[in-house]
Amino acid sequence: LFVADPLRPGVHVMIEGPQAHYLSRVMRVVAGDPVVLCDDVTGEWAARVVEAGKRSVALETIEMLRERETVPEIWLCPALIKKDRFDLVLEKATELGVARIAPVVTRRCVADKLNPERARAIVTEAAEQCARTALPELAAPVKLDALLADWPIDRRLYFADENGGAPLAPAIAAAGSQRAGFLVGPEGGFDDQERAAIRALPQAVPISLGPRILRAETAALAALAIWMAEAGD
Ligand code: SAM
Repeated sequence: LFVADPLRPGVHVMIEGPQAHYLSRVMRVVAGDPVVLCDDVTGEWAARVVEAGKRSVALETIEMLRERETVPEIWLCPALIKKDRFDLVLEKATELGVARIAPVVTRRCVADKLNPERARAIVTEAAEQCARTALPELAAPVKLDALLADWPIDRRLYFADENGGAPLAPAIAAAGSQRAGFLVGPEGGFDDQERAAIRALPQAVPISLGPRILRAETAALAALAIWMAEAGD
């Protein structure tokens, strides 16, 4: 379970809300049971249940199990898409190990808002499920122009373009495991002006994910899976 404050040995932690429900009703923990905690700062900790109630569970930390992992320098910039499909992107991108998810609003986006609490809950649950000790950073949605204007000079921007680009795997292999991000369009794709603006960015590398037009969420996850296979992170 991820907790908000940094942990130390022998501290008491009060778990409430859905996490308490999960511990007491789903896992049915009782005093003395072991629980693993994570704080997204120091790492993963062994803890034990001191008292389990229906609404809150008191825990005490024992010792650190693993230091917080070093997350590979990979960002995902997915255009906002329909809620259930974007939820899938949040969950799977977390599992695939991204450091940062930076949603983008483009001209053809049907959605332009993201509920930050809900998004945070999805990535936290995904991180717990796959035993990540670091949460991906979740940025507020920005317009495409702003994303391009602020794109770091020393970070590649792999632009997933269904109209053609370099095959992704060899492009990653040639670049080595540099700092990078993936930009993926919405259901209706990028329009011509957007495509030209992205391609004009010196850090942009147009890439292809094969001959088929993938759904936006498939494209985002395929790109990350290829990154993982090539960079090994
Ligand atoms: N209409 C479908 C949907 O509802 O999801 C397909 C959308 S596709 C145009 C969305 C985005 O996925 C594109 O803007 C592009 O970034 C990426 N994409 C899809 N297929 C791709 C491919 N073969 N190569 C590179 N990027 C691709």
